[in-house]
Amino acid sequence: MSSTGSDKQPANTANVDAREIAKFEEIARKWWDKESDFKTLHDINPLRLSYITDRVDLSDKRVLDVGCGGGILSESMADLGAHVTGIDMGETPLSVAKLHLHESNLSIDYQQSTIEEIADSDIERFDVITCLEMLEHVPDPCSVISACKKLLKPGGHLFLSTINRNPRSYLFAVVGAEYLLKLLPQGTHDFAKFLKPSEISAWLRQHDLSLMDITGMTYNPFMGTFRLSGNVDVNYLVHATS
Ligand code: SAH
Repeated sequence: MSSTGSDKQPANTANVDAREIAKFEEIARKWWDKESDFKTLHDINPLRLSYITDRVDLSDKRVLDVGCGGGILSESMADLGAHVTGIDMGETPLSVAKLHLHESNLSIDYQQSTIEEIADSDIERFDVITCLEMLEHVPDPCSVISACKKLLKPGGHLFLSTINRNPRSYLFAVVGAEYLLKLLPQGTHDFAKFLKPSEISAWLRQHDLSLMDITGMTYNPFMGTFRLSGNVDVNYLVHATS
């Protein structure tokens, strides 16, 4: 595995793709610039936050944000009173996330770790686990779901989001978003790693997690806005309980 330049190198066996981490390392400095490569994450954040808070009251809850990046979702959950631990394997996203706490005056425990590592030494610690826009960047997404199950308290809530794998998602999420509209840098997404709702559902079942809901997040290219919808062809959110 090649170096990511971080002081903590993923073990060869870790569920980490160093090339994926490197993609985010390169652009991480711009994470909080709402007009940058991260514009889409900023744009969708209120929508996904409301999806979460419609299903669970975050106040005083212990939350693990997996693949937290620069902390857009972590901060919005901490702002609602959640006790957030944010983990990521990217060194630069994490240092950007830590630096941004000085601006927001929020308190978040950021750690450079995989969820598998945390699950190795702990169990049933979190009321809520969020893993948004990250599963399509790891070699083995099922292993992440297995670790989520281990770390969720009984009755805990799991929120996932990713991109479906079909001709329409190739057209919208790769050709449209990266090449035509340039919402994301070219090469951000690897189509082969996109995940079908049926695959996620099977992994949830395998780990005794109950699927509560799947909702689409659709982009209107004319308005430049996203909305929650019943169409899960491209981006979608998943809610499951332990
Ligand atoms: N969840 C955040 C950021 C998504 S970008 C949000 O939606 O706002 C994907 C992030 O996942 C990047 O910061 C990348 O460094 C991280 N990542 C990729 N593979 C990872 C792994 N195996 N463990 C932890 N973080 C990982």
